[in-house]
Amino acid sequence: MQNNNRRKFLYLPGHPLANKRGYILESRLVAFQAASRLPAPGELVHHLDGDPSNNDVANLLILSSDLEHKQFHRVRNSIGACAECGGYGQLKKSKCPRCYMRLWQRERRRKLREKGIKRWG
Ligand SMILES: [Zn+2]
Ligand SMILES: [Zn+2]
Repeated sequence: MQNNNRRKFLYLPGHPLANKRGYILESRLVAFQAASRLPAPGELVHHLDGDPSNNDVANLLILSSDLEHKQFHRVRNSIGACAECGGYGQLKKSKCPRCYMRLWQRERRRKLREKGIKRWG
């Protein structure tokens, strides 16, 4: 095991997710193993709580592009009580990571639905 900016690497030479030197970013391994598939080009793994050493599967989110990833990090983290559930912690747009994600996913579904309606209507 190797540490680099608190990101954990595993040494698994020959694994489909390993780099040339045989190392895999643990977050990548955990997230894509849970999804039981290999990453598509450009896909990356985001840590919901902002802690790159927390590779619990519940803390990981697969994003389809660097752009999508930047949207998560553009919102500056602050500490306080969540506007949705009242939980105390690191906030994004005054919501805890879990509520933020839930609303973000709902918003994304809504946008996709709108696109679908436009296409058919
Ligand atoms: Zn991230
Ligand atoms: Zn919350």
